[in-house]
Amino acid sequence: MAFKFQGVDFLHLDAGFSEDELLVRRTARDFVEDNVIPIIEECYRTERFPRELVPVMGELGFFGATIDGYGCAGMSNVEYGLVTQEMERGDSGLRSFVSVQSALCMYPIYTFGSDEQKNTWLPAMAKGEKLGCFGLTEPGFGSNPGGMTTVARKSGDEFILNGEKMWITSGNIADVAVIWAKVEDEDHKVRGFLVETDRPGFRAYEVHGKWSLRASVTSGLSLQDVHIPATNLLPGTGGLKSPLMCLNQARYGISWGAIGAAMSCYDTALQYAKARKQFHNQPIASHQLIQDKLVWMVTEISKAQLLSLQVGRLKDAGTVGHQHISMAKRNNVWMALECARISRDILGANGITEDYPIMRHMMNLESVKTYEGTHDIHALIIGQHITGSGAY
Ligand SMILES: Cc1cc2nc3c(=O)[nH]c(=O)nc-3n(C[C@H](O)[C@H](O)[C@H](O)COP(=O)(O)OP(=O)(O)OC[C@H]3O[C@@H](n4cnc5c(N)ncnc54)[C@H](O)[C@@H]3O)c2cc1C
Repeated sequence: MAFKFQGVDFLHLDAGFSEDELLVRRTARDFVEDNVIPIIEECYRTERFPRELVPVMGELGFFGATIDGYGCAGMSNVEYGLVTQEMERGDSGLRSFVSVQSALCMYPIYTFGSDEQKNTWLPAMAKGEKLGCFGLTEPGFGSNPGGMTTVARKSGDEFILNGEKMWITSGNIADVAVIWAKVEDEDHKVRGFLVETDRPGFRAYEVHGKWSLRASVTSGLSLQDVHIPATNLLPGTGGLKSPLMCLNQARYGISWGAIGAAMSCYDTALQYAKARKQFHNQPIASHQLIQDKLVWMVTEISKAQLLSLQVGRLKDAGTVGHQHISMAKRNNVWMALECARISRDILGANGITEDYPIMRHMMNLESVKTYEGTHDIHALIIGQHITGSGAY
């Protein structure tokens, strides 16, 4: 039987959070406790995205949370981070959905879009009435998206898109896809397009058989001679820098989200270790080796909290660099995966069941380690920053 989450605040960071930050976290935490925890194991088992929660999340201001106006909450980056932390304490799939809707769809519309595009999409996406997906990865190009083969050709006042995208979160439930393509008549420069998913020639097919992120929709997208009005081009996009700016937003949220998954695993292991007795009727928490594991986890979680908080404060001050976000994403996801493995070990056989959230988090985190720049690609990004030499 799972335990009620107790929170993890070893370094008394809560004392430094503002009232608004604590309120946002409490709202997100209560939402997850009341709506996600009771159903998530069933969703995971049956490979079901809990779509019924979308309007509730919209009402609570979780979509496009850092955007000012258009019905969005206008949160600070730290507040937004606390939301993603709580979402992923529930499930990485739910956090993935929020990240894609917010950082990968609403952010590019807000940052690169025309006034008409913003007015058409942002208010409806903030409420969760319209959903988005982000098509960058292709079957042959993951870590190296610059190699993409999806093309856009200008024809009169239209663009015609052709190509394949793969591993696209929310692809089958999206109303609009942000598609990245090379524009033939612009020297194959990468630009972003808004593609309504009901256009002829656009097809989304769901990827089944995943052992990770089972409560999240993952799709392949096929675009065959998809005609879109020229006004669907995101006018502010130009070059690979544009999608990478979106990824930076999402990676920042992931760094916080991973802390949430780690907290869930650690808190479960701690409560279990205090209750479970082995040898001389003693709780396993009283054994030195178990304590060493719990101490490792709470130390790494505390360090990760400091890292994301500092990156969030830099982001709010407008001084964050992409290398800072890479460090937070890389470290915190690794840390969370290690916590999941150690926690599973502390629960013994019980750790492998769906009675506890640990194995689910562990399987989810394998995807989180790979997407939004793999663990190793982030090492190369940081390495390039500190040495001046690109090693890709
Ligand atoms: C569940 C899920 C959801 C996703 N959602 C989206 C989405 O919504 N939108 C989207 O566009 N994409 C999405 N992705 C795709 C994701 O971003 C890619 O999987 C990721 O970028 C890695 O690409 P790849 O899988 O092709 O691996 P590859 O790029 O083939 O990498 C394989 C391995 O090689 C390593 N490697 C690659 N190049 C180098 C190098 N130069 N030096 C050293 N090592 C290297 C990598 O680190 C990795 O370990 C999703 C993926 C998953 C699993």
